[in-house]
Amino acid sequence: MDKVKVRQGIQLLLEGLGVDLESDHFRDTPERTAKAWIDELCSGLGEKNFSLTTFPVGANYESSMVVLQHIPVRSVCAHHLLPFYGEATVAYIPDKRLCGLSKLSRIVDYYSRRPQVQEELTCDIANFLSEQLSPKGAGVIVKATHMCMAMRGVSHDGVMTTSSLKGSFLSEGNVRAEFMALANTQSLNKL
Ligand SMILES: [Zn+2]
Repeated sequence: MDKVKVRQGIQLLLEGLGVDLESDHFRDTPERTAKAWIDELCSGLGEKNFSLTTFPVGANYESSMVVLQHIPVRSVCAHHLLPFYGEATVAYIPDKRLCGLSKLSRIVDYYSRRPQVQEELTCDIANFLSEQLSPKGAGVIVKATHMCMAMRGVSHDGVMTTSSLKGSFLSEGNVRAEFMALANTQSLNKL
């Protein structure tokens, strides 16, 4: 990533908007904003070699669904560069490999930290899980509120839901139903 270009771009944006860049509040904004975009909002773009530590499943393991719910999603939409945020549910049925549960959260975070559309974010997470673990099946559901909808256009803060299903999550109705039911549960702190 080119920090100088990002800083110049933000400066141009503010100049174009007619903001007084000499005022106390705006003087350091191009620098501060460039740092936030590079180090935080888009840090997933700078981290090229993300891979997963996996573990073999034991001989007596009877594979069942591994699910992590209520994973925070904080991202930026590709079309307006405005935030969208919500929650993801990520699940898989192991075949020969497992990963640590916290890694499911880590995958969501990695793919969230870049500008994109929610549909692709959802697919990217499911594809990554499939590639890294070769599970019997995998499923991802993302529910998010888009500020580009809430602050402009229709000014409506509806929740958009996207899903990506692989393997048995697609082909077996009971697996899909179990996953969908889990993805629709309330988070404990909202009960
Ligand atoms: Zn948008």
